[in-house]
Amino acid sequence: PLYVPNANRYETIPYRRCGQSGILLPLISLGLWHNFGHSNDFKNARSMVRTAFDHGITHFDLANNYGPPYGSAEETFGRILQKDLGTYRDELIISTKAGWDMWPGPYGNLGSRKYLIASLDQSLKRMGLDYVDIFYHHRPDPDTPLEETMGALDHIVRQGKALYVGISQYNAEDTAKAAKILKDLGTPCLIHQPRYNMFDRWVENGLLDVLGNEGIGAIAFSPLEQGILTDKYINGIPEDSRAIKDGRYLQRDKITPEIIEKVKKLNEIAQQRGQSLAQMAISWLLKDERITTVLVGVSKTEQLKNNIEAAQNLNFSKEELHAIEKVLNA
Ligand code: NDP
Repeated sequence: PLYVPNANRYETIPYRRCGQSGILLPLISLGLWHNFGHSNDFKNARSMVRTAFDHGITHFDLANNYGPPYGSAEETFGRILQKDLGTYRDELIISTKAGWDMWPGPYGNLGSRKYLIASLDQSLKRMGLDYVDIFYHHRPDPDTPLEETMGALDHIVRQGKALYVGISQYNAEDTAKAAKILKDLGTPCLIHQPRYNMFDRWVENGLLDVLGNEGIGAIAFSPLEQGILTDKYINGIPEDSRAIKDGRYLQRDKITPEIIEKVKKLNEIAQQRGQSLAQMAISWLLKDERITTVLVGVSKTEQLKNNIEAAQNLNFSKEELHAIEKVLNA
């Protein structure tokens, strides 16, 4: 049956301006790193994307190598566009990236102009698109001059293959350098995508100040520490969890009793706020206005619906913040 999106979708989730740009992003964005590959159930993938759009989530985050296999999340997303969302292309912000290993040989990885331009062309083909909204350099490359990598991003925008550019995983110092190069080229950096969650707070140590000062937006990835900052691992490791299904990035032995002890205490604070732990972990990131949007992953539509409700309560009392700090610093 023909997909008809929820008519009230833009009354569901608030939007925030991305740095000093013309773009507003929903407080929650959907990432397709896991659960959208060829090895995953297409019906479920499709229903997660529909659920997102029905709730006003306009922003979908991909990368060349999301899958498995590499490229397959973009192919899945392309199929969903073809079946459901393509008519709404102008209501969508579609992001992809290059920077990690993608194809064999010296030109399928890192930060050369050769790699970035070829990779985006491949991504566009897989998704069936003429352009993406945001193209990112996925991680810093210490051996390629920043001028070359940023020059490639600028070129891609001038080619009309991306409307905006971003960087991911760059430290504060390199971010400031990259921002300057891009500004001089006339293609300002729209957004930075760092890892940021209650257990991984490196961005508070300089990066957020750079982003605030430069007028660059921020999108926090792995906000739930891949699922650890939810209630799912409190009573053991469930069969349908990422730690069991896909140990590539979340290894079971990372979920230690010490971590679960903290998770339990955080879960109690969340309950007192009337939130799930996942919701509190998301709200806690969004309390800083420099965080434009929180980039969640989900394996089920129910998780997404739960996470979206985090946007309803972004206020933390001093006591709550203090109690959270006490748990995190214990
Ligand atoms: P999260 O920290 O949000 O973890 C997502 C996982 O948490 C889900 O797959 C699910 O795991 C579990 N989960 C989510 N919501 C709930 C809930 N309400 N209740 C219980 N469990 C829940 O993010 P990811 O690590 O998936 O990263 C998000 C996105 O960030 C990626 O899709 C990608 O777009 C981007 N990213 C970018 C990187 C970069 O280098 N720029 C690197 C990594 C990610 P389960 O499968 O166990 O149900």
